[in-house]
Amino acid sequence: MKNEGIEGTERFLSPDKGRGLRAVRHFAVGELVFACPAFSYVLTVNERAAHCDHCFARKEGLSKCGKCKQAFYCDVDCQKGDWPMHKLECSAMCAYGENWCPSETVRLVARILMKQRATTERTPSERLLLLTEFESHLDKLDSEKEEMNQSDIAALHHFYSKQVIDLPDNQALIELFGQVNCNGFTIEDEELSHLGSAVFPDVALMNHSCSPNVIVTYKGTLAEVRAVQDINPGDEVFNSYIDLLYPTEDRRERLIDSYFFNCQCDECMSKSKDKAKMELRKKKTSPPEPEEIRAMVHYAKGVIEEFRRAKHYKNILSTTPTSSAFLDSPVPPSELLEMCELSQEKMGSIFADTNVYMLHMMYQAMGVCLYMQDWDGAMSYGEKIVQPYSVHYPAFSLNVASMYLKLGRLYLGLERKTQGVRALKKAQGIMEVAHGKDHHYVAEVKREIAEQM
Ligand SMILES: [Zn+2]
Ligand SMILES: [Zn+2]
Ligand SMILES: [Zn+2]
Repeated sequence: MKNEGIEGTERFLSPDKGRGLRAVRHFAVGELVFACPAFSYVLTVNERAAHCDHCFARKEGLSKCGKCKQAFYCDVDCQKGDWPMHKLECSAMCAYGENWCPSETVRLVARILMKQRATTERTPSERLLLLTEFESHLDKLDSEKEEMNQSDIAALHHFYSKQVIDLPDNQALIELFGQVNCNGFTIEDEELSHLGSAVFPDVALMNHSCSPNVIVTYKGTLAEVRAVQDINPGDEVFNSYIDLLYPTEDRRERLIDSYFFNCQCDECMSKSKDKAKMELRKKKTSPPEPEEIRAMVHYAKGVIEEFRRAKHYKNILSTTPTSSAFLDSPVPPSELLEMCELSQEKMGSIFADTNVYMLHMMYQAMGVCLYMQDWDGAMSYGEKIVQPYSVHYPAFSLNVASMYLKLGRLYLGLERKTQGVRALKKAQGIMEVAHGKDHHYVAEVKREIAEQM
C-alpha cells in the first residue's frame, strides 16, 4: 500500500513539540477526524469470556478455543482470524498452566514482533506515522523503569521464545519496549473499564494538550478520533494523554514522569481550573497555611500511589458485578474501602468535598462498593462525584460520561427510574459527540432509556 495520508489532516513539525497532526479543513464538534485500525492489540486476561479475543465484541455465549479453553470467540471466522496471534499463547498457556503470567505489555510486544514479520509494507494503521518511528526516550528512563523493561524482556524470552523464534537482541528489545510504553494505548469500554492494550501509530502522532480538541474512543479494536472543539484549518489536533481531573502541577508531573515533556498548553499556562480543583473546606476559623495545604497534597499523592500499588495496577472500576479485577488484588476490598474512608476523613479537615483529591478517593471507594455489590454505597459516592466532575473536566469528557452512565445504571437497578433516565440522558449527550451518534454504546444507552418509557 502506498502512503495515502489521512484526508483533512497532515503531518507537520509542531513548534517545540516535534512532529504532530494538523487540520487542513474545518472539523465541527462531534465530527470524525479519522479512524485507525490497531496495528496490534491484546484483550486483557480479566475480560476473557466476556469479550471476543479477536474483535473485542461483548456478548454472551462466546465459544472457547478447544485446546487452551482460555480464548473466546464470536464464531469460527473470529477464531481463524485470531489464530496467527493466539498461537503465540495457546500451547504455552497449556504448558505453563497457573505459571503463565506475562504482563500485558509483554503480550502486546510479542504480537507486534509477529505482525512486523508478517508485513513488509506500510499498514493502514500507519498512514502518517510508522511504528518504527516511535520515540523510545531511553535516555530519560530512571532505574525503576529500566528494571521493569528488563524483567519484561526476560518474560518475553521465557514465555514466547518457542513461538517467536529469533527474538531481536537485547538493545532492540529495550528500544521496542520503550516505544510501546510511550506510545501504547489502553482500550476501555463506555464505563472506562480496561479491555486491553494496543498500538495505533497514527493516533500516537497527535501531541498532548490538557485542553484537547479531540477524543479517542473505540469500536472493537478500531480507534476513532472525534472533534470535541471546533477545529479550523491550520489548527494542531491535540489529544490528552492523561486523566485531566488534577490541578496543573500534578498533571505536569504525570506528563514528565510518563511522557518526558513539559506541558505548555493553554490550560497549563492559564491554570484556569486550579482554584476550583483545589477548593478548601469553609471554616469559621482562619484558613489553613500554604504549608498545611502543601503537606496535605503530598499526603494525598502518597495515598493515591499506595492505593495504586494495593490494587496491583489493576483497573478495579466496573459496574459489571462479574468483574474479576479485584481477585488479583493482594489487599482485601474491605481494607481498600477503609483506606479510602480514612484518607477522606484526614483530607476533609482541609479540602472541600469538591476538591479533586477528595473526589479521587471517592471514585476509588465507589469502585470498591461496585465490586462488593454495595449498590447503595456506590450510588451515594456517585452522587457526590458527578457534579464536581462536570465542573473540573472539559465539556465533553469520557470520565464525566462514564460517571453518568454508572450512576444512571445504578439508579435503574435500584428502581429509581426518573433519576436513572435523567443520568443516562446526560451520558448520551456527551457520548453522541465523543463516540458518535451511530456507536453501539450509544444505541445501548438509548435502548436502556426507551425501556423505562
Ligand atoms: Zn469476534
Ligand atoms: Zn487456545
Ligand atoms: Zn497542559
